[in-house]
Amino acid sequence: MKFLRISGIKLNLDENEGQLKEKAASVLSLSPSSVRQITVIKKAIDARRNKPPHFVYVVEVSVPDNFQFSGDREDGIHLQESGNISSEPCFSPIPSFRYRPAVVGSGPAGLFAAYVLAGRGLPVLLLERGTSIAKRKKDVRAFWEKGILNSASNVLFGEGGAGTFSDGKLTSRSKNPYSAWVKRILVEMGAPAAVLTDAKPHIGTDLLEKVVINLRNRLLAMGCTIRFEAQVTDFAVRQGRLAAIIVNGNEEIEVNQLVLAIGQSADDTYEKLLANGVRMEAKPFAMGLRIEHPQELINSIQYGKWSQHGKLPPAEYFITAAIPEMKRSVYTFCMCPGGKVIGCSAFPGYVLINGMSNSRRSGEFANSAVVVNVRIEDFALREGPLAGLNFRGEWEKKAFEAGGGNYCAPAQRLTDFLQRKVPQPIGKTSFHPGTTPVLLDTVLPDFTVRALRAGIHEFNKKMPGFITGEAHLIGVETRTSSPVRICRRSDGQSETVGGLYPCGEGSGYAGGIISSALDGIKAAENLINNLDYGL
Ligand SMILES: Cc1cc2nc3c(=O)[nH]c(=O)nc-3n(C[C@H](O)[C@H](O)[C@H](O)COP(=O)(O)OP(=O)(O)OC[C@H]3O[C@@H](n4cnc5c(N)ncnc54)[C@H](O)[C@@H]3O)c2cc1C
Repeated sequence: MKFLRISGIKLNLDENEGQLKEKAASVLSLSPSSVRQITVIKKAIDARRNKPPHFVYVVEVSVPDNFQFSGDREDGIHLQESGNISSEPCFSPIPSFRYRPAVVGSGPAGLFAAYVLAGRGLPVLLLERGTSIAKRKKDVRAFWEKGILNSASNVLFGEGGAGTFSDGKLTSRSKNPYSAWVKRILVEMGAPAAVLTDAKPHIGTDLLEKVVINLRNRLLAMGCTIRFEAQVTDFAVRQGRLAAIIVNGNEEIEVNQLVLAIGQSADDTYEKLLANGVRMEAKPFAMGLRIEHPQELINSIQYGKWSQHGKLPPAEYFITAAIPEMKRSVYTFCMCPGGKVIGCSAFPGYVLINGMSNSRRSGEFANSAVVVNVRIEDFALREGPLAGLNFRGEWEKKAFEAGGGNYCAPAQRLTDFLQRKVPQPIGKTSFHPGTTPVLLDTVLPDFTVRALRAGIHEFNKKMPGFITGEAHLIGVETRTSSPVRICRRSDGQSETVGGLYPCGEGSGYAGGIISSALDGIKAAENLINNLDYGL
């Protein structure tokens, strides 16, 4: 018996997965009984307009050993002999060493780095400046409902990192062979099994918090020590190597092997790294606004007359537009069907927003970031590697002031924004504690505003109906990726401070839940590989 992977098998909305075997057999011109086993590897929706939406599958089937096939066909089907392309990190125990490695940050990068280190038998110390999920949830609720911000415990800081209150999209373009393993661990921790096969998998905030708690318990069982409300406030570097870290300003812990997984929002930690000679450089990023439409409207644009069909999930979109005369691109990012626009401030006096949803994505609205690429030259007048942080902070402060100084977000009807109309009262949005109608030109750099106007008109050509009086823009969206890179050597260590392994979104080498988790695994593996040289 051998295994074949068949890509491109289609099921229409009236068919069910029980029919896949028959379809696979017919594709291979075999009788259904010759296909003994069938496994769904991937499931996607094809909802290109003017065609009935349908599901497209990649399946793996077992066929007789002597079955001959050709990979090239003209019916959109692709055949390939299956090979085992997924793998998992090595977990064979290694002898302990003098100092235990530490991991800073309990986001996806830090959690998966700790998993690999603990899995090899190392006594890992995981430090997180924010609180555990239970306390964090209360703090986040107080912020969303009443505008009371806790700088130590919020949407960006705390157990699980920035992705805990998110849509939990697990999409990643990475071909990293550990991707499937990361998803399998997430499923073991409570994520829905569908994330293993969906082309656009997502978990949702309600399930993510359980996943993160289960992951914490697994790490504890593996021998990891986890400390919340433990902020690394300084570093001691001696002769170009990390020697110790200072926690909460007063506790020195000797550490010479540290995975740094701080995310992109710890401006204070970046400043300490810079002061300690850690080489960093500014990098391009993107910023803009979040757009919110009624979900039903997006469903009807994307699915047409099939928009009410019970088998179709709340519709998504991803649109891009090039603005050649400005040499800019405008694109949607982190679309959250059935989700909410949320405030994500971590420090007082700044307003920044993002999107989240629950697992069922059953909310009234669809939201997405609409952002413009920001080049290093755009903030070159400011000096140093942290110039991008200061630049985005400046606009987040303007958004705070424009919103009324109480964490309400500046907002405008889409049609008013496009026509540069003075602020009009706006309609219902999902954002809490509230929105303040403003001319959004005042909360973003001019090039961004101009590019957004041009880009949104292009979007409407690709998705007719996108421009509507029912849509709102809310600002500001600044955290698409880090504006800083913590420069790494090819062995994963900081270019200037030995024993320091920057990883995840905050290192500037990853972005998103899956790619940050994969980068954390790589950091842990590099640390282990370098151990002989590190001591
Ligand atoms: C609201 C929201 C929704 C999102 N939705 C998605 C999505 O659907 N899909 C997706 O792929 N991505 C999403 N993202 C992005 C994703 O969350 C990040 O890319 C990812 O979390 C980065 O992982 P990380 O581990 O590198 O950093 P983070 O998750 O940011 O974790 C860093 C952790 O380090 C801690 N820390 C920082 N400094 C210190 C210090 N000095 N001492 C101790 N601890 C410290 C922080 O408190 C934080 O918990 C979303 C982000 C937000 C904010």
